Amino acid sequence: MTQEAYQEQTSSCNFVRQVMDACADCNTCRFLMDESCLFFPELYRLYDKEKETGQPPAEKELHRLADMCTLCGLCPCPDIRADIVRAKIARAQEKGLPAGVRLLADVQNVGRWGCRLPGIYNALLRAPGAARTLKHLAGIARDRELPRLPKEDFFFWANRKGLTGLPSGNPKAAYFAGCTAAYLFPEVARAAVAVLKKNGIAVYVPPQQCCGMPTLLEGEDSLTRRRVNKNLQALLDAAESGCDLVCSCPTCGFFMKVLLQEGAFYSRAYQESVNAGEDEIRIPDKRAGINRHVSLQKSVYGKILKDDSCFSDIDPLARINLSEKIRDMGQYLDHLHDKGYLDTNFCPVNARMAYFAPCHQREQDMGSPYEKILALVPGLEIKRAGGAMDCCGMGGSLGFKESFHEASIRLGRRLAEKIRAAAPEAIVTECLSCRLQFRHLMPEIRVFHPLEILKKAYDKKEDEND
Ligand code: SF4
Ligand code: SF4
Repeated sequence: MTQEAYQEQTSSCNFVRQVMDACADCNTCRFLMDESCLFFPELYRLYDKEKETGQPPAEKELHRLADMCTLCGLCPCPDIRADIVRAKIARAQEKGLPAGVRLLADVQNVGRWGCRLPGIYNALLRAPGAARTLKHLAGIARDRELPRLPKEDFFFWANRKGLTGLPSGNPKAAYFAGCTAAYLFPEVARAAVAVLKKNGIAVYVPPQQCCGMPTLLEGEDSLTRRRVNKNLQALLDAAESGCDLVCSCPTCGFFMKVLLQEGAFYSRAYQESVNAGEDEIRIPDKRAGINRHVSLQKSVYGKILKDDSCFSDIDPLARINLSEKIRDMGQYLDHLHDKGYLDTNFCPVNARMAYFAPCHQREQDMGSPYEKILALVPGLEIKRAGGAMDCCGMGGSLGFKESFHEASIRLGRRLAEKIRAAAPEAIVTECLSCRLQFRHLMPEIRVFHPLEILKKAYDKKEDEND
C-alpha cells in the first residue's frame, strides 16, 4: 500500500491503527493476553509483519482485527476497548452493516418474532436444507447448531403469571432477564423468579429491551443507545418505586454496571454533583468507602479523563445511578445470605459439577458469589474449572458468524480441555453464551445456570411455576 493510500484510510481504520500503535508500544498484552483473547495475538502478528516487510496492514486486516474483540473485558485498558468500539461504530457508519450481521446481532427481535411461531422456526431447523439456507443467508457457520426456540418465551410467561405489574408489598425486585434467557433459555429466567420468591421477594418484570451488548459489538450505535435509554428509564422507575434491581446474565450486568458508566464520573454533571472545584476532577474512591473521593489536578488529567464514550450523550448521573443499583443475582443472594435472610434449607443435589466463572462475571469485581452459595447445597461437589484469564471464545452472537467461528472454537477448546480434565457430571456457569459454546464443544456434558441448581435444591419436585 502506498503512503498516500494509507493516509486516506477511513476513520474506522485510524481507530484500530491507534490501538495497534499504543499496544505495540506498550507490549504488555503480547504475553499477558496470548492465550485469553483473539485480538492481541492478531494485533502483534500484524505489527510484526509490518516491521518485517515495511507494509502497513490493509484496511481489511484492520477491520478483521477489530472483529476479533468480543468485549470480554479481560484486558487491562478500558480506553483501548473504547477505541475498538469506536472503530466498529465508525465502520458501521462508513460501510453499513450486512443484513445477516444485523439479524444475528438483534437477538431481541429475532427472539421476539421467532417465539411467536416457535413450531415453524424449529421445524425449519430440523429440515437440513432449510437450516443450511438460513445459515448461509445470515452468515452463520455451517457447523453451528442453531438453538431451538421454547414453546413460550419468558416475557409471555411472566405476563401470564402476573409479574409484569408492580407488586404492592415489600421487599420486591425488578428482574432484568436479558434476551438469551428470555427467548432461548426461559427455564433460567423462571428459576430466577422461583429463587427470589422462595426468599420472600416479590418479583416485577419491567418492560425491557436487549441490554445493548450484541448490537454494540457490531457497532450499531444508535439502536444500542435507543435500547439503553429505554432500559434506563424502566429500571430507574422501578428502583424509584422501591424495587431492588437484579439481573441474571453476566453480560447484561457487565454492560450496565461497567461499560455504561465508563467516563460518567468525569462528566460535568457528576463533577458539579460532588462540588468539584474549578481546578480538580473528583472521582470516587471505592476502597475508602461510600461518598469518598480522590481529587486529581484538572490541568494534568483533564485531557485524558473525559466522558467521551459512545454513551456520553446519555445522562451521566442516570448511568451512574443504574450501574450502582443493579446487582447480579448471585451478588444479591449472597447479600441476603450475609444478612441472614437467605433460605438455606436446601435439599441434597448429589452431583460433581465444574463451575466456570465467565469473563463478564469476573470483570464485575464482585468475587464469586454463586460458588459461595452453591457450597451450601448438601451433596453438591463443586470445583472451579478454568482460570482468571480463560474465555469460552463465544462472544455472544459473534461465535455464530462464519468469519469468526474457527477462531472462536480455537479459543474455546483450551478451556474445554481444562473442564474435561475435571471430569464433571455437569458444568455450572451463569453465562448462556458460554453454555452455547460448551454445548457445541462438549455435547456430552450438561450445562446449568447456578440459579437452576438452586431452584432444584429448593424444590426437587416438578416446576411449580409452569
Ligand atoms: S491493552 Fe493496555 S496494557 Fe495491554 S498492550 Fe494495550 S496499552 Fe498495554
Ligand atoms: S475486551 Fe477481551 S477480546 Fe477485546 S481486546 Fe480485551 S481481552 Fe481481547
